[in-house]
Amino acid sequence: MTAVLAPYAAHESSSRGRRYYEAPSTYRGEYQRDRDRIIHSTGFRRLIYKTQVFVNHEGDMYRTRLTHSLEVSQIGRTVAVALQLNEPLIEAICLAHDLGHTPFGHAGQDSLNACMRDYGGFEHNLQSLRVVDKLESKYADFAGLNLMFETREGILKHCSARNARELGDVGARFLEKKQAGLEAQLANIADAIAYNHHDLDDGYRAGLLSLDLLREQSLFSDQFDVVRARYPELEDRRLIYEVIRRMIGAVVSDLIEETQRRIEAAAPASIDDVRNAAAPLVSMSDAVYEQHAALKKFLQKHLYSHEQKLEMTGIAKAIVKDLFAAYMADERLMPDEFASAAASAAGAERARVVADYIAGMTDRYAIAVHESMTG
Ligand code: MG
Repeated sequence: MTAVLAPYAAHESSSRGRRYYEAPSTYRGEYQRDRDRIIHSTGFRRLIYKTQVFVNHEGDMYRTRLTHSLEVSQIGRTVAVALQLNEPLIEAICLAHDLGHTPFGHAGQDSLNACMRDYGGFEHNLQSLRVVDKLESKYADFAGLNLMFETREGILKHCSARNARELGDVGARFLEKKQAGLEAQLANIADAIAYNHHDLDDGYRAGLLSLDLLREQSLFSDQFDVVRARYPELEDRRLIYEVIRRMIGAVVSDLIEETQRRIEAAAPASIDDVRNAAAPLVSMSDAVYEQHAALKKFLQKHLYSHEQKLEMTGIAKAIVKDLFAAYMADERLMPDEFASAAASAAGAERARVVADYIAGMTDRYAIAVHESMTG
């Protein structure tokens, strides 16, 4: 069954295409092909051992970057189908969006960014694009995965003007102040919906967020009151799960309905109209957006900066910093391909090779290498 695409969705026939020409596939669409390349990539497999919020060895039940990416993709696909957007494209973008994440989540990224301060910095979102454009090298004809323009556009969520100038086609919209296609806009929001809700679940599971605390959040308490009234005997663990699934349902429904309203008002006839619109068209209503933003702030305060997490954050930052210093001092500590690339480069270029190597590590690999260095 071929889904009917809205005129303002991304259509293969009007795509800006791949950087290197490839003959069309016999049985798959071009965005399906992108999705498959991403799933077969080394970077994708590594996501299973990369931190979402809790470091991998803190417990088997917590989300990792891999399960996070799958949850983002599920939400994105649901909304895409409801809005007649391109489902394989949204799936490809969502599965690839965190490929550039360092080990140890945001702690790792902050530390690597600090190490790279004099060499152009490090940003995980930009790194995701670098992974699919350059670092995955398994195809005979080109470096990277040679993905479609619209997939790459979706992976690059944000970008500084300086980096945008270096990125060419995919950076242009940041300089021209244009919008991304609807699938790219949607992937960005699906990411936020996924992590807000699953981090809440993980935080509760870890005992860092209590029921009383959670009830201060209107997005949570709205659903909590309904579930408690209907199932007064329900044990806490099931209660929380029931509340969270209803929260996601409510936010996603709001997102679909508000986006439909905005699309109707703007009446785009093509993806070009979407790109030229004054503002993004994929959006929650103002009221739900406020609640969702408040939940994000709440998690920032009570979960991401919780002292039990901060301790792990300090360790993670030190590991990344030590590894960076060691490889900068002696590139031969890295595997051959990175060692020879670093040896033939200098300054920022050399530092970038080191950053690429560290960013590709899983949590446990980084811990093991660090241990073997420091004893
Ligand atoms: Mg993400």
